[in-house]
Amino acid sequence: MTDQHIHCIVSDCHYWNQGNKCHANEILVANDAFGSQQPDNIDVASAGQLTPGTAGTCTATCCKTYVTKDSDQIKSDTVKRMP
Ligand code: SF4
Repeated sequence: MTDQHIHCIVSDCHYWNQGNKCHANEILVANDAFGSQQPDNIDVASAGQLTPGTAGTCTATCCKTYVTKDSDQIKSDTVKRMP
């Protein structure tokens, strides 16, 4: 799926870019229950092994790949920021 575009309006994320575009090469979206229970390092690297869950509404989902622009976590992140 090379033609995928992710639009995002969370502007303090390291992967956010002008035009409200996500420049992460991959992201993990989860339901809020999972997002609030799991640490930040549970992200795309482990996505294939995670058990999927349900959300019921769009307001109950979150982006697990979100990271602030100044976070130390960026250094250990396996996600690449595309140009
Ligand atoms: S990683 Fe998530 S929060 Fe960050 S810009 Fe992409 S979609 Fe938005």
